[in-house]
Amino acid sequence: MKTVSSLLDADWYDRYKRISKLNIRSSIYDVTNRCNLRCKGCFFFSSGEDKAAPEEMALGAWERFIDKEKDRGVNLAILIGGEPTLCLDRVEAFYKRLPTFCATNGLIKVDRERFPDMMVGISLWGDEADETVLRGKDTFAVSSKNYYGDPHAYYLYTITPRQLGKTEQIIRKIRDAGLKIHMQLLSNDEGVDGFSWTPDELIVIREEMDEMLDRYPDTVISSKYYHEIITTGRMLGRPFGWKECPSVTEPLDTRNPKPKRLIHFIRWASDLNTMHRCCTSETRDCSTCKDGAAHMSWVMVNKRDHIRTTRDLQNWIEIYEMFAKLYQFIPW
Ligand code: SF4
Ligand code: SF4
Repeated sequence: MKTVSSLLDADWYDRYKRISKLNIRSSIYDVTNRCNLRCKGCFFFSSGEDKAAPEEMALGAWERFIDKEKDRGVNLAILIGGEPTLCLDRVEAFYKRLPTFCATNGLIKVDRERFPDMMVGISLWGDEADETVLRGKDTFAVSSKNYYGDPHAYYLYTITPRQLGKTEQIIRKIRDAGLKIHMQLLSNDEGVDGFSWTPDELIVIREEMDEMLDRYPDTVISSKYYHEIITTGRMLGRPFGWKECPSVTEPLDTRNPKPKRLIHFIRWASDLNTMHRCCTSETRDCSTCKDGAAHMSWVMVNKRDHIRTTRDLQNWIEIYEMFAKLYQFIPW
């Protein structure tokens, strides 16, 4: 029988041991229904999640809710929205109680005296031209000044089909700003012309992502297996989609048979009572979903299937390490 120790040498086994004790239990929270941008293709607004429930305004209610989440076993709070930095008191309520990750467009600087080591993921949707078309603004010009050299921040770079051949210039800009980068692919939820992936483009972008990881290993937080999974939508011969997705809100998950999934995962709306279907758009057709975190989690929850060959298990370890770095469970 194949076992973890029979497949790994001493170095890889040490890496495996380091992550296998982490036991990450994440949930996702809409901190607010508001944003200071309105990006074309934003899953939150395009799916009407901003209207799903009114925001809870009382800070005390947030504090009590977070305490209950902690009791429920959550050890990673992922804050999204809307734009969480519009409500820093709520962000602080999480940060004081739980390991917290805050997604942001980077236009508002998180005060490092108040949030010294909170991991911040800054969204970036391409170069100046793409950002202007999709977001109405070159956000990098502002966010790179706000977070220059910040050791607890990285860019979450959403690659669009128009970025083919251009990712290197963006990665260099981020490296020169003293920051790290993680890549994912646009799902184009609002069908903006020219921003949907063709099969050929996905083949080319996979090669480009691999090349960027080889050339900028100190800046790019990624793995080639992640590139394979996200561009092909397949893992060990199985297709990603509704039947396999690990990031479905647990109390709403009526799938039968149940796939391997994130334990106790819930995506909460900002009334602290309503739940959304999954980690991303409520209305997205799962067959078009390119959500990076859902694909990563898909690999992570399917460890057993990767105890097959040395390479398969190493692939699994690399993706787990990548996730653990992005949410600050292990150092860069
Ligand atoms: S900054 Fe984020 S939350 Fe705001 S509109 Fe853009 S994608 Fe949506
Ligand atoms: S849209 Fe994506 S993350 Fe949501 S349930 Fe479908 S596959 Fe999963």
